Amino acid sequence: MDYEYKRKNCYKEADEKELKAIFDYAEGYKQFLYTSKTERGATATAEKLAAARGYKPFTFGNKIKAGDKLYFINRDKNIFIIRVGTKDVAKHGVKIMAAHVDSPRLDLKPNPVFEDGGMAYLKTHYYGGIKKYQWTTIPLALHGVVMLHGGKRVDVCIGEEEGDPIFYISDLLPHLSQEQNAKPLGTAISGESLNAVLASIPDDEEKKAVKSAALKLLHDKYGMTEVDFEASELCFVPAGKPRDVGLDRALISAYGHDDKVCAYPEMTALFDCNSKDTIIAVFADKEEVGSNGVTGMQSRVILDLIDCISHGLGADPVLVRYNSKCVSADVTAAYDPAYADVYEKSNASYINCGASLTKYHGARGKSSTNDASAEMVGYLRDAFDDAGVIWQTGELGKIDIGGGGTVAMFIANLGIDTCDMGVPVLSMHAPYEVISKADLYSMHKAMVAFCEKE
Ligand code: MN
Ligand code: MN
Repeated sequence: MDYEYKRKNCYKEADEKELKAIFDYAEGYKQFLYTSKTERGATATAEKLAAARGYKPFTFGNKIKAGDKLYFINRDKNIFIIRVGTKDVAKHGVKIMAAHVDSPRLDLKPNPVFEDGGMAYLKTHYYGGIKKYQWTTIPLALHGVVMLHGGKRVDVCIGEEEGDPIFYISDLLPHLSQEQNAKPLGTAISGESLNAVLASIPDDEEKKAVKSAALKLLHDKYGMTEVDFEASELCFVPAGKPRDVGLDRALISAYGHDDKVCAYPEMTALFDCNSKDTIIAVFADKEEVGSNGVTGMQSRVILDLIDCISHGLGADPVLVRYNSKCVSADVTAAYDPAYADVYEKSNASYINCGASLTKYHGARGKSSTNDASAEMVGYLRDAFDDAGVIWQTGELGKIDIGGGGTVAMFIANLGIDTCDMGVPVLSMHAPYEVISKADLYSMHKAMVAFCEKE
């Protein structure tokens, strides 16, 4: 009998077969992540994976019936993958796993192009919580869409293919940084200085016009003119593929683990689980800026979907919601020995010790958070333990040091029991974050256990 709570290390506990499963699973995730840097990328990748498994597109107005395998794409930026079960949804509710697929990045301003010092630049407006100094002097790729006049959409992706150019934001040389170095970290680099080099060869006819030459290149490639930036969603994200970290390759460094590292496992769990429940895997947008707007989890769309499922199966949606359960699948902070004083060691999440169940986030005395009930946590704990999942529990940092948020409270506010759970991340929100392959696989197993719990 173990009277004491002790975290377990997934790698230490794993036999050869489990180790192979951990490493194999990570390869699928790395592929997914590379094509899912933005919410649009993640939505398109998820659609392909779902369609390959026989899932069919759903639109509002369609009839839903037991046994359907569906996906609903909300404005190309938010996907709901739905497995309609055969159990009575009025009695058992639906099981929801909700992750987000937007990540902190640098969006372009609506009128972004300017020229100075013989170079043309793109002005950015950062999206989500970033440490601005981390985004200078690293290779950046440009992703997104432009709507041309008349409704034609052009997809843009520059900087990911071998041989593509990348984009670059400069920083001051140390030789001239005496004043900059004396500033607090948060203000040393301003938002308005995050301008990326677009081009530097001047136009042949008008000798100095680098800007017009750059706009001509964009017109040649995409058929766009400067005014089309206003009807675009373009952003800079770190260029390149996920890479293994460490001699033993136990960890992965990549852009956008938060929160694709939870989105991928909830999707694979939905695909792989053996369950008669109705299950929804949500890839939400706009979590990093408060979940507002038509593709965020504060929008009505999820309610409308639950209504459609309920009506299709002849159940009262009020009963369905009341009996539903949700895992808000989002990352948490991994204990970092370099910054040990912001963590409380007994209640921190540790790398390689499994996905972490987080009862509440919030700040200043648990404000602005979902605080999961003992019953809900108990339900999940039983699901994980009975399935042999190695998992841990933790808070995001010490009391009154800061805090975080997820989509959990927005789903709980709909009258659905919800609890946060996710993979611990080192350097969260940095251009390159780090996670553990074992924790990723633990998340997959935990989500399968949730889906399969009777
Ligand atoms: Mn997140
Ligand atoms: Mn985040």
